[in-house]
Amino acid sequence: MSGHMTPEEFRRYGKQVIDWIADYQQGIESYPVQARVRPGEVLAGLPEHPPERGEGFEGILADLDRVIMPGVTHWQHPGFFAYFPANASGPAILGDLLSAGLGVQGMLWATGPACTELETRVADWLAELLDLPGRFRGNGVIQDSASSACLVAILAALHRAGGGEAAREGITRRHTLYISSQTHSSLEKAARIAGIGSAGVRVVDVDPRTLAMDPAHLDALLSEDRAAGMLPVMVCATVGTTSTTAVDPVAAIGEVCRRHGVWLHVDAAYAGVAAVCPEMRWINDGLDGHADSYATDPHKWLLTNFDCSLLWTADRAPMIGALSILPEYLRNQATSSGEVIDYRDWQIPLGRRFRALKLWSVIRWYGAEGLREHIRTGVRLARDLASWIGADPGFELLDHHPFGLVCFRPRWEGLDDGEADEATLRLMERLNASGDLYLTHTKVGGRVLLRMAIGAPATGDRHVRAAWDRIREETDKGPAW
Ligand SMILES: *Cc1c(COP(=O)(O)O)cnc(C)c1O
Repeated sequence: MSGHMTPEEFRRYGKQVIDWIADYQQGIESYPVQARVRPGEVLAGLPEHPPERGEGFEGILADLDRVIMPGVTHWQHPGFFAYFPANASGPAILGDLLSAGLGVQGMLWATGPACTELETRVADWLAELLDLPGRFRGNGVIQDSASSACLVAILAALHRAGGGEAAREGITRRHTLYISSQTHSSLEKAARIAGIGSAGVRVVDVDPRTLAMDPAHLDALLSEDRAAGMLPVMVCATVGTTSTTAVDPVAAIGEVCRRHGVWLHVDAAYAGVAAVCPEMRWINDGLDGHADSYATDPHKWLLTNFDCSLLWTADRAPMIGALSILPEYLRNQATSSGEVIDYRDWQIPLGRRFRALKLWSVIRWYGAEGLREHIRTGVRLARDLASWIGADPGFELLDHHPFGLVCFRPRWEGLDDGEADEATLRLMERLNASGDLYLTHTKVGGRVLLRMAIGAPATGDRHVRAAWDRIREETDKGPAW
């Protein structure tokens, strides 16, 4: 076998691949949720050297089953409750396949007019579905991840804070970034990449009960830093933290940012999409005040295969000022006319995929109604689980669970805190080894909590019930080591 795959061959193998995926979806419950391979096992199953002569596609499909599948953790399994969900859905898979089929590189409007304009439209659709403030309309862009979104926001904020100095001269004085202990690690990473450094990251206190950022402490830190000659660049508020889905008081934080003239980025990577439901719109409180940028990930809970993270800015000018460089080989009439968007200036890389196709497919297939139904199912299942945990005297529940995440731990009577934490982690390992479910953990106030994040499209009542029965049963065996 050699040479390019003909359209007829593509048709034949393409049908096999679609059938393979449909069979996988149908049979997903037969797999253990977490891959059971040892480190290096997949690697050892793969030939050390690439083939000299082309091989048939049948061989690839056979090896997929033989070598790859044992090393796959099944994120779409109804028993997957780890981290946050990374939803896949039929329409998103097909939209992504169309993107691959077109093979468009949409760095400039001129290299992909439809790629650019569909993205502008679906970003506006999503802003409308989430009821985001009007000033974000027309200013949305699809990034690969929320990590990239916050890096772009920091670069735009740096540009605005220093009047373009960072782009011209690099970082020449101490800049500061404000987060809390609950902020996602991607913010500190972005600060390092942007040249602010970990030393420029200020950690604002949180309310020990709600884990929400304290605006008064933020205010004090900003004043202190200014007085000490620092240049505050950006504050990141989080709606739905990764650890426990805590919600920072965006309105109060925005008011502090306004007074100090500092950029406010709102990271709602996981929870933001919940605002498709009117009853969840409280999570947008304060956005209409002072937020300069806002990010949420349809690739977590909103049925759109990774990667698809939306970033909106209230004013695109500082972002473009920070990122736009026009070499001769990219010059073209459309760009010079100023009538078009060149999304290369709204992100870190030059090249970009036609990601809007999958989000477009998802929004059109489900409609606003279907998207709401999916979010509501996750919220309802989490509420049911929390009610069972709350009613069981053997467990402690974290009261705050407005989304799909529930945090809890067994009480382990008679053990000290350290022993109890160890017992909780061992319990989690035993549960995950069962293959029926997959949980992760976090720490709150120094103590271990289990996290059960509900939201895979396949997860229904019986799966949550079965997981809870399994957790109780395993806990009843005691703190075995
Ligand atoms: C998941 C998450 C991120 C990182 O998202 P990626 O899109 O995977 O980079 C950032 N912030 C919060 C609050 C998250 O939950």
